Amino acid sequence: MAKRILLVDDAAFMRMMLKDILTKNGYDVVGEAENGVKAIEKYKELTPDLVILDITMPEMDGIQAAKGIKAADSGATIVMCSAMGQQAMVIESIQAGAKDFIVKPFQADRVLEAVQKVIGG
Ligand SMILES: [Mg+2]
Repeated sequence: MAKRILLVDDAAFMRMMLKDILTKNGYDVVGEAENGVKAIEKYKELTPDLVILDITMPEMDGIQAAKGIKAADSGATIVMCSAMGQQAMVIESIQAGAKDFIVKPFQADRVLEAVQKVIGG
């Protein structure tokens, strides 16, 4: 069965790009959210195998969302993504429970490598 992924980014274009990369490689994008609050709601509703979380978002950022998702399900698998120059956020992301970090602009190979590493498929 295809691994189920929840995509979270405030930019619809970024979600579209990621969805394209993932679905072409056999993953099932089961939901999308545009801020951290909705990410936590969708996580609880869908219990995906993986959440790909943008850091900079309105309402609630990705770091807080990662903490909220982990509080709801300590076994949740999260990969963070964000823009160049935000590498300082890596440590904070790992502390919030993320397993890997993807830097924008996305390179398909790097996205797939991170996803395969954490959930296989
Ligand atoms: Mg953003």
